Amino acid sequence: MANKTLKFVDVSQEYPEKRAATDRAKDFDEIYQEYVQTKASEQAGRCSQCGVPFCQIHCPLHNNIPDWLMMTAEGRMEEAYELSSATNNMPEICGRICPQDRLCEGNCVIEKGFESVTIGSVERFITDTAWEKGWVKPPRPVAERPQSVGIIGAGPGGLAAAEEMRKLGYQVHVYDRYDRIGGLLVYGIPNFKLEKDIVTRRAELLKAGGVKFHLNFEVGRDATLAELRARHDVLLIATGVYKARDISAPGAGLANIVPAMTYLTASNRKGLGDSVPDFDSGLLNAEGKNIVVIGGGDTAMDCVRTAIRQGAKSVKCLYRRDRQNMPGSLREVSHAEEEGVDFVWLAAPEAFLGDQKVRAVRVVKMRLGAPDATGRQTPEIVPDSSHEVPADLVIQALGFDPEDLPTLFNEPAIGVTGWGTIGVDFKTKMTNLDGVFAAGDIVRGASLVVWAIRDGRDAAAAMHIHLQNKVAAQRSALATAAE
Ligand code: FAD
Ligand code: SF4
Ligand code: SF4
Repeated sequence: MANKTLKFVDVSQEYPEKRAATDRAKDFDEIYQEYVQTKASEQAGRCSQCGVPFCQIHCPLHNNIPDWLMMTAEGRMEEAYELSSATNNMPEICGRICPQDRLCEGNCVIEKGFESVTIGSVERFITDTAWEKGWVKPPRPVAERPQSVGIIGAGPGGLAAAEEMRKLGYQVHVYDRYDRIGGLLVYGIPNFKLEKDIVTRRAELLKAGGVKFHLNFEVGRDATLAELRARHDVLLIATGVYKARDISAPGAGLANIVPAMTYLTASNRKGLGDSVPDFDSGLLNAEGKNIVVIGGGDTAMDCVRTAIRQGAKSVKCLYRRDRQNMPGSLREVSHAEEEGVDFVWLAAPEAFLGDQKVRAVRVVKMRLGAPDATGRQTPEIVPDSSHEVPADLVIQALGFDPEDLPTLFNEPAIGVTGWGTIGVDFKTKMTNLDGVFAAGDIVRGASLVVWAIRDGRDAAAAMHIHLQNKVAAQRSALATAAE
């Protein structure tokens, strides 16, 4: 067969077609179309098949990218899918929402001079094709094992661990306080980045494979950690981080100043057809309003783009550093700018103005001063730079901290770090409580879906070793007793 790769000199980079900004601002559908097979093969064929693939090194799952690109280039789609799904429980989800510009694609060696291979879009195409062709199958263990695994949290970390443990034949029970499976994949990330039926079909697959879900079940309210430990042979805590960081400025307590997750959850629920009184009353609906979003991360980007789709009169994003220093993906910023978001760089709220409800934000200009201990320039207020920005709804997107889990779980003995995240042993992934493991954002702090999947997989491998060691110890104790 003629070589179908190394085409980056002749074939230029082409992402799947992006819908026009004016069209996509009117609905919550995903913004990228799907590749067709010939385009996916052509783009995959741009890969130079590096001996040391930096894309793979910088993918948190160390996906075997060059090989599945080669198979896609050659049209061997089922093999490409087998390889891609061997290291990733949700390749079509990562293909859609990983910040590829900071991970695989940002480290592709042909990036300099020829623009990177469109790795994420090909990964998405491979697994969307697999779903279409019926190649994606529920986890089917070769043999059942009697031990049971309790997983707290049905986000990507918990789900990846559930699938891996079920493949090994364990009896897997997942508990979640939400009414749907998926964690932030469902209630945080908006539909225009990840359509919800893509998450639902993953959840249905796990159910078909025998994973048992206990929804509307909040650990702390419906059971203590100790009760769940007694119910299962091992436990995994994958509860994410949800405590919104607050702004402390005069007027911060006024009505119509809301945390990002309250706003995004309402919008996602509305899209899913739920009744959302605070949306229907207008409180969490941006339509016809001047919206100010505070923050520069991916959550802020999701808020501004949601507000545009709800028909806001104006949408401003205030960030205290500049474009180059923002934590969010620059690709997301460009999408938002195309859709009509006004970014106010080097700006911070000084006070919120209004009687009962907010009517404006008093904003000060910032400049970047001397670097701090991490080398990042510290923002400083520019004197006499206050000005008012009209606001009917202010959305705070300043990041998340963990909840106080020892209190919430009624388990004061569980070890937490100085940041409130759960402490785990670097090698065994186990907390200080025997048989209790942890994964995802609750260990790393607010991070990424791909890292939660990686942690979930690592935790599953660690729980398997722990359970095998327990079985071996029991056998040896029985053998000794029989002697
Ligand atoms: P989560 O997804 O948070 O899941 C935790 C689950 O635990 C939830 O379902 C929760 O209900 C449940 N839970 C919590 N406490 C309890 C309890 N006491 N009892 C029972 N269940 C409980 N990452 C990306 O890679 N790309 C993106 O584009 C992106 N966009 C984002 C947009 C927003 C708005 C936010 C907030 C985050 C975004 N992220 C993104 C980050 C990503 O969503 C998280 O890093 C990832 O979901 C973490 O997975 P997790 O499984 O650790 O936790
Ligand atoms: Fe890139 Fe994410 Fe896929 Fe890894 S999982 S190859 S980082 S898109
Ligand atoms: Fe291919 Fe780029 Fe990865 Fe090299 S770094 S193997 S060119 S995708």
